[in-house]
Amino acid sequence: MKNKDLRPRKPLFIYYIIVLVIIFVLNLLIMPTVREQSLVKTDYSTFLESVENGSVKKAEIRSDYIYYIDQKNGEETTCRTVRIEDPQLVDRLLAGGVAMEGVLTDRENLLMSLLMGYVIPIAVFILLGRYLSKRLMSSMGGAGGMMQFGKSNAKIYVKSTTGIKFSDVAGEDEAKDLLTEIVDYLHNPQKYKEIGASMPKGALLVGPPGTGKTLLAKAVAGEANVPFFSISGSEFVEMFVGMGAAKVRDLFKQANEKAPCIVFIDEIDTIGKKRDGAGFSGNDEREQTLNQLLTEMDGFDGSKGVVILAATNRPDSLDPALLRPGRFDRRIPVELPDQKGREEILRVHAKKIKISDSVRFEDIAKAAVGASGADLANIVNEAALRAVRDGRKFATQADFEESIEVVIAGYQKKNRVLSTKEKLIVAYHEIGHALVAAKQTESAPVHKITIIPRTSGALGYTMQVDEKEHFLMSKEELENKIATLTGGRAAEEVVFHTVTTGASNDIEQATKIARAMISRYGMSDEFDMVAMENVSNQYLGGDTSLACSADTQALLDKKVVELVRQQHEKAVKILTDNIGKLHELAKYLYDHETITGEEFMEILNSDAERIEMPEEAGRLMDNQMQ
Ligand code: ADP
Ligand code: MG
Ligand code: ZN
Repeated sequence: MKNKDLRPRKPLFIYYIIVLVIIFVLNLLIMPTVREQSLVKTDYSTFLESVENGSVKKAEIRSDYIYYIDQKNGEETTCRTVRIEDPQLVDRLLAGGVAMEGVLTDRENLLMSLLMGYVIPIAVFILLGRYLSKRLMSSMGGAGGMMQFGKSNAKIYVKSTTGIKFSDVAGEDEAKDLLTEIVDYLHNPQKYKEIGASMPKGALLVGPPGTGKTLLAKAVAGEANVPFFSISGSEFVEMFVGMGAAKVRDLFKQANEKAPCIVFIDEIDTIGKKRDGAGFSGNDEREQTLNQLLTEMDGFDGSKGVVILAATNRPDSLDPALLRPGRFDRRIPVELPDQKGREEILRVHAKKIKISDSVRFEDIAKAAVGASGADLANIVNEAALRAVRDGRKFATQADFEESIEVVIAGYQKKNRVLSTKEKLIVAYHEIGHALVAAKQTESAPVHKITIIPRTSGALGYTMQVDEKEHFLMSKEELENKIATLTGGRAAEEVVFHTVTTGASNDIEQATKIARAMISRYGMSDEFDMVAMENVSNQYLGGDTSLACSADTQALLDKKVVELVRQQHEKAVKILTDNIGKLHELAKYLYDHETITGEEFMEILNSDAERIEMPEEAGRLMDNQMQ
């Protein structure tokens, strides 16, 4: 919409008049009084007296007044007196040795004061007014002005500005392949046209947050030698109904003019949500925007070479109409990186920092299971920061290992002092996890156990690192995982015959696994292969919604409790059977605060099995547990 002529001139004009009046009044009333204040008003005879005394240094004669500087007792005062018709005035002044350099004609003065008093302030006001009104309008309705709704203000990226290439995106090979094809099409459309193939109009990047969707789109911009429009879904959301739709229209108009080009809509779920009958106010605007987007995507000619990229982490919430072939017909999954991907991402980011030769990216990648690209970038940066903190010039393996823990559990809380009793309980709790894990098959080896409190609130934790990545989990593995999670609490029960709040996170996780096993993975006899719950947004925390009757739900809950209880009992049994090792390991952890996986296994496999509770721990317990 080009509505330049509709700009509201009238109100602005009125503002100018108001400003003019204000300036006029200021000039008339205030300025003279300001000037007057520093003046001493004298009468003509006093003036003549001063001239005769020779104390007047300088005089300026105007049509009404004479301004002069009177120097009495070493003090200079500026005075004003009324000008009286006095033919001898000049003679008198000459006789008194008064400098008359400042005698100005009134006409010149008038010009100056006009300039100073009116023209300059008005000019300043006008410029200021223009600037402010422009800012106000652009904040209300896009570039240009209030009435110019619907300017899409998409940023145009061109190759040189972002500088991000596919080589900056590590892993995600499938996504890169699919996108490379699109870039290739834009460069050599002939190759595809010869055979009759047409490019997909749109490609949708889907995946969890921080996996590099936005980064991939920027890399496409960096690789393709065509204009790249980038806009975020939220920029379409506007105060007024119809503005979002107008913006979409404008965006596609611009894209058509610039074809071949790429349009990237980030976080498209903001405008692409499913249209539903039930809705509250404000839906109108969103629906109109979506409808406009659908229309535009149908309308343009794919062979012209406009490719729409979009990214979202909520594909399930998108309107099906948007996803049908002919619109976003190519779906590019950008999943959490696997072991190899993590290693590559670490390497890409580690290029930006100085590291020692001993850094083993493979091990770091192994320990960072489940980390997204953004997490890994963060881990690398934390490692560099830690190196600086320690006054080193490069980051070491230890820096990386610590920074994984920082990203998982927060910083070490050095000043939090646990009481001996608490520390002992935490030590037993963590060893409980580790021991249960170690005594079961199909369970990831213990990598590290620590009882140094963290800023996340964790008082300690047990890190298990799998040798190989798993993509499938068997029922037994899941059960063992639940047993391991209950191991902490089980140790508290076995040793101290009491329970603490320390297990809340374990309980949460164990419940989640148990529930999923029964309601979604079909791992119970009762429900066979029937889904009792649906995952509503798979990439964002995986919230579930129930899909069963209240009766079934009650049964489901019962089954979950049963499953967890079974595993809890198993954990208690493992710990009672290995009580000697539990004491030995807990004492070691209590003393050292951190155990590595190797140390743990060494103690566990040593023959010198002490059945007795370590003396110190026993004494402490007796003192404090009464
Ligand atoms: P999202 O998928 O949420 O759009 P981003 O693309 O914004 O994620 O990624 C955030 C940051 O994480 C990037 O700027 C980059 O530093 C890092 N990152 C994510 N994935 C990768 C990857 N595959 N390779 C390299 N860096 C990555
Ligand atoms: Mg993003
Ligand atoms: Zn625990």
